[in-house]
Amino acid sequence: MIIEDNRELTEEQKRRVLLKVEEKGVVCGSCGSRDFEVGEALYLGFLFLSEDRDAYMVALTCKDPACESPRTGIRLHRLDFLWEE
Ligand SMILES: [Zn+2]
Repeated sequence: MIIEDNRELTEEQKRRVLLKVEEKGVVCGSCGSRDFEVGEALYLGFLFLSEDRDAYMVALTCKDPACESPRTGIRLHRLDFLWEE
């Protein structure tokens, strides 16, 4: 098993995350916005045994400046976004 820390994503990887955000219809739980900034990816498969081996939580920040709770995240699989271009 590969153990990784939080990782910064490339612009291309962030773009793929945003495509998934759109596909899954993720909306901000606080203000309902669909506009997100993509942050780091946290590998879940190592931390939580119940998770799939290739599960990641990718940090999302709502872009609405008036949002009261802008931090959220999306669970994705490695093949959804993390391959190298
Ligand atoms: Zn929001």
